[in-house]
Amino acid sequence: MTPSNLSTKGGVRAAVRDVPAYPFTPVDVPVKLDQNENPYDFPAELKAEALRRMAAKDWNRYPDLHADTLRDAIARYEGWDTQGVVVTPGSNVLIKLLTELAGIDQTVLVTDPTFGVYTLEAALLGAKLVRVSLNPDFSLPVAGLLGAIEREEAGVLYIAQPHAPTGHIDARADVEKVVAAAEARGWVTVLDEAYHQYSGSDYRDLVRAGSNTLSLRTFSKAWGLAGVRVGYVLAGPELAQNIQKLVSAFNVNLLTQAALEVALEQPEYVQERVQEGLRERERVLAALQGHPTCEAMPSQANFFLLRTPDASAAYKHLLERGIVVRRQDKLHLLQGCLRVAIGTPAENDALIAALNDLP
Ligand code: PMP
Repeated sequence: MTPSNLSTKGGVRAAVRDVPAYPFTPVDVPVKLDQNENPYDFPAELKAEALRRMAAKDWNRYPDLHADTLRDAIARYEGWDTQGVVVTPGSNVLIKLLTELAGIDQTVLVTDPTFGVYTLEAALLGAKLVRVSLNPDFSLPVAGLLGAIEREEAGVLYIAQPHAPTGHIDARADVEKVVAAAEARGWVTVLDEAYHQYSGSDYRDLVRAGSNTLSLRTFSKAWGLAGVRVGYVLAGPELAQNIQKLVSAFNVNLLTQAALEVALEQPEYVQERVQEGLRERERVLAALQGHPTCEAMPSQANFFLLRTPDASAAYKHLLERGIVVRRQDKLHLLQGCLRVAIGTPAENDALIAALNDLP
């Protein structure tokens, strides 16, 4: 008997056939607040230096097998052992590999709502997906997660801090409780820290203390390098070496490696931008306080949720003003919600003005 998630038709597994394509349609408008990107490009002088180094490389040669020079540079930046760093083109790739790590029979445990790629990869693999509802205030459902960790076949547990798409940050003690239980039962816990620079949270110490817990990080947000595509794992050396086996050889191209070397040599710009992002986040949230119909929710990330009376109408209204945001209103607990990234001051002004005109 073939399990239903392994049955194939035309050489394609049912699990893959049944999954809808990644739900994102690019919209070309002046104010792009739909992908939680950094509103600023990589600094011009660093870009020029990266381009110079790219030109000096031999493009006919393969890059480092496992991006070893880049892994060294990340390890130095993070105060980590190079053996515990795994690099791929974006952290989405790592989510695929981490989901595959425990195999098809495992459980993928997430909160609901959660970052869509965790559930997408679980569905593509045909793994058992277990969702535990966030608490109504978006905090981590500690008791529910502890129950699932105990009850289910161990697999991979995803916890984003700050959480996506709510921007909520949890009490450290709650995260520690869940991670300790998961460690004890042999789950791999992924602490997704894609936005940690905006919350000031940092779970490297928890990763260090455990053996099955890792931090997932990216250059796509605070570093402003989403287009360059680099994400990485910080883990213990044994776990990292097993994850590394799943990474295709020569996965990170030499142009990307050159750009990242430059960024990691001069990372000072990141902190300045994060500070501006935080100031702007508080300014936008304050400006939307007391809005007659919308509720802007507090966030510890570079985006926030906006609860509207009618998400479809609000989305269209913003689009007519040249502003694109992300609808989240079909997600559990997020009725009427749009997800809005923090942009430049001018972009944020445009957003506030458009929302103040919402019929
Ligand atoms: N994790 C979270 C929580 C995210 O929001 C994102 C980006 N939307 C990612 C991971 C993936 O980022 P990237 O693939 O660009 O590294």
